[in-house]
Amino acid sequence: MGGEECAISPPPSLLTGEVAAKRTEGAQSRALCLSMTRSPTDAVAINAVLVAARQAVDVICDRWSLAIVAAALMGEMRFGGLAARTGIGGRLLAARLRALEADGVLQRDGPAWRLTAMGRAAAPIIGQMRRWESASAPLICAACGRVATARDIDLKLSASRLRAVPVKQTARRRSTLSDGSGGVAGVGLGESLDVFGDKWGIEILLCVFFRLARLVALGVLTPEYRLTEKGIDLYGVMVAVQDWADRWVQGRVRSPVRLVHRGCGRVFHPG
Ligand SMILES: [Zn+2]
Repeated sequence: MGGEECAISPPPSLLTGEVAAKRTEGAQSRALCLSMTRSPTDAVAINAVLVAARQAVDVICDRWSLAIVAAALMGEMRFGGLAARTGIGGRLLAARLRALEADGVLQRDGPAWRLTAMGRAAAPIIGQMRRWESASAPLICAACGRVATARDIDLKLSASRLRAVPVKQTARRRSTLSDGSGGVAGVGLGESLDVFGDKWGIEILLCVFFRLARLVALGVLTPEYRLTEKGIDLYGVMVAVQDWADRWVQGRVRSPVRLVHRGCGRVFHPG
């Protein structure tokens, strides 16, 4: 796609500094059009980023798993308490607890559960979801403490990591909106669960980020679908998911992309 003419933004994880931000005047929500430079643009690189992104969301981005982790981070550790706070039925809750235990997020502790170090490290994901929902605080670079947006972040492709990404992937079953929708008031999460707890929500986002531009270029779709400011702000959650998975999920393909905050030149992590 031509940088100047693009109608659809690249993924937040692919946003770079060289931005041709076009604001659609008069639109209900401002849309941005960003060009990709110094970023993965060829098919192999995009596939690698997709595989890594899907592997990251596979582990934690299930609406019930997110709700359970959020409840546990609030100190809820007993089965009954978790059920009451998340509203998850007994059998489903038991199955999700077992899955989270198998993944190393939770550990049995007598009649209760406790978060492992891996589970506690998921706090920034929930924190970024809350930040995105409330739009109360900007994204902060942990290295320098300054406000950053997706547009302040450069991308560097790591060649060695790129080679380690398999061409094919197997996806886990993830929850869909048919499993439930809306927020889980007991853990204080709202619409972010409908984005990050829904398999199709994430798939559509990935498609918007990576693939719709191609279909627009082919004339199959009209270029109406643009990422809004709110969409761009999802970046913080996606980086938090990726950071967590890169650090904690064994055997996962690490993302071939390194995010660098242009303001300070250091690797970007949400603060
Ligand atoms: Zn910085």
